[in-house]
Amino acid sequence: MAHESHRNQVEEIVGRIVASGRRRTMSRQAVIQVIVDCHGHISADDIATRVQEDFPSMDVSTVYRTLETLRELDIVDRVYFADGSTVYHLRDHQHHHLCCEKCGSVQELPVSLMESVEKDLLEEFGFELHQRPLGLFGLCKACRS
Ligand SMILES: [Zn+2]
Ligand SMILES: [Zn+2]
Repeated sequence: MAHESHRNQVEEIVGRIVASGRRRTMSRQAVIQVIVDCHGHISADDIATRVQEDFPSMDVSTVYRTLETLRELDIVDRVYFADGSTVYHLRDHQHHHLCCEKCGSVQELPVSLMESVEKDLLEEFGFELHQRPLGLFGLCKACRS
């Protein structure tokens, strides 16, 4: 049944692209499918590799262009991790990331946890924080024990 809900999610996202006046293309649909299926965080190169399993003729630049379109429509976010890697995730729920330096796992952190930081920055520094998805590095629970 999970597969069925993925298909609905892909359709819903493609619907948003069409509603913005853009065309439904195989490349857009394939890239969205990979992002939905991966359930989390994936680099542009990994997206390209998976898309090419079904569409060998699709080049990486098409994947990058598609990702740019999806970003313009606020469908995906580009997330910079502190180790220099860049991944994409769906923007359906805002979160930050706890990245384990040892096992490479990525855990989602609700933005609400940063609200006190946001408040302190405003009160003590007069700085208004715009929360963009962050990758915070450290050791996960399993690797610490
Ligand atoms: Zn994420
Ligand atoms: Zn770990």
